[in-house]
Amino acid sequence: MDTAAEYEARYQTRSAALVAGLQAARRSGLPAALGKTTSNLFRHRQPAARHRLDVRSFDHVLRIDAGRMTADVEGMITYETLVEETLRYGLLPAVAPQLKTITLGGAVSGLGIESSSFKYGLVHETVEAMEILTGNGDIVACSACRHPDLFFGFPNSYGTLGYALRLTVRLVPASPYVYLTHTRFLAPDDFFAHLARVCEQASADFVDATIFGKDEMYVTQAVFSDGAPEVSDYTYMDIYYRSIQRKQNDWLTAKGYIWRWDTDWFWCSKHFGVQKPAIRLFARPALNSRTYQRVMRLSQKLLPASAALESVIQDVDVPIARGAEFCEFLLREIGISPVWVCPFKSSDRTYDLCPLKPNQLYVNFGFWDMVPTTHENGHYNRMIERKIAELGGVKGLYSASYYDKPTFWSIYDKVRYGHLKQTYDPDGVFPDLYAKCVERK
Ligand SMILES: Cc1cc2nc3c(=O)[nH]c(=O)nc-3n(C[C@H](O)[C@H](O)[C@H](O)COP(=O)(O)OP(=O)(O)OC[C@H]3O[C@@H](n4cnc5c(N)ncnc54)[C@H](O)[C@@H]3O)c2cc1C
Repeated sequence: MDTAAEYEARYQTRSAALVAGLQAARRSGLPAALGKTTSNLFRHRQPAARHRLDVRSFDHVLRIDAGRMTADVEGMITYETLVEETLRYGLLPAVAPQLKTITLGGAVSGLGIESSSFKYGLVHETVEAMEILTGNGDIVACSACRHPDLFFGFPNSYGTLGYALRLTVRLVPASPYVYLTHTRFLAPDDFFAHLARVCEQASADFVDATIFGKDEMYVTQAVFSDGAPEVSDYTYMDIYYRSIQRKQNDWLTAKGYIWRWDTDWFWCSKHFGVQKPAIRLFARPALNSRTYQRVMRLSQKLLPASAALESVIQDVDVPIARGAEFCEFLLREIGISPVWVCPFKSSDRTYDLCPLKPNQLYVNFGFWDMVPTTHENGHYNRMIERKIAELGGVKGLYSASYYDKPTFWSIYDKVRYGHLKQTYDPDGVFPDLYAKCVERK
């Protein structure tokens, strides 16, 4: 049996090897890049020589402190592994993004979210401490008290300041089952007003929502439960998102709830034909976001992009008061549905690269599809960028962005980012945020 001390010793040995790897990257003059087997990124980097740091082994739970309700874990641990481990203690990460291969480090370096975010905020707000391998080649331990500049500057930095190798994250008590209620609305105004109300009441453990069309939108509230009369299973023939239209109430195991969106990658599995029963019957091992990601990456390598289709894969955050307006714009001008909607409360702290107003209720809209086009590449994505600026929102940087430099740096704090870069990556071992997220360097 491995002891916590053995895990700790192995973490120290592997970290030292990674520091040596980073020093080699510095000597090579090539930009450093993450070497791992999974990714949920949807902006493909331009081909270029990079010095890959093999971080695949940083995927362990080092310690769960059930008393303090924290987990001390390595940065590339997937939520699938983390949830499996914490559930043994009757606990869950306070915010557990619902694709199994999302990693804790990836969720913190972007804007990780889930249906508990209306209570606990975005993933980075549930993190108490981190150890970050910086561009200097140091491992810097940071928290709100130690190196607070790095701690508050790291979220949404997308690996441009360093890589989180170790994190302490908050857990919450979990019951074995979750009871869901789907409530239908016929108009955006009513839908968003109800969503705001249930978040304010805070009587649910989880709140998210799904838009199928302007007159078909559902708010889903879910609460933990110690028992269940029967439980649904959305890991095989039954498809979760379709159940929302069919059922008013539902029961899932806690684990079934956390992964309810993974089996069909929300609804994006439709692109692979596996929602057809005759195909699905034989596709069980492939029904997960890990497989869809791999197939998608392969097809992007092998098939030429069509000029008649624009890929619109975005998560955008809008103040809830402007939610109906964005919803109507999205359905009318872009024409994508379904759309995932997830409310979240912004922090009362300032995170340098998270340009959200403090202590406000926002809604995240997730929409991921191809849109027929006769316009220049990026036409629809640019429209979305302009609309969210107009509504006081912000967009995730994990997928394509089209901002010009002045616009980008009018959204993100260039001066503070410049200080962070100067302190933790003065030689530019990692690309800067604009180069990486917009220019795809
Ligand atoms: C259909 C779809 C649904 C999605 N649903 C959700 C959702 O429900 N909730 C949610 O939160 N997100 C969701 N996302 C977005 C996803 O979380 C982000 O892409 C996230 O950044 C992916 O993290 P990853 O761990 O897979 O990291 P990767 O894809 O490997 O990397 C993402 C970026 O983070 C950097 N990075 C990764 N690990 C680290 C680290 N340890 N330290 C520093 N930088 C690091 C990488 O350099 C890279 O720039 C969704 C995306 C899609 C397309």
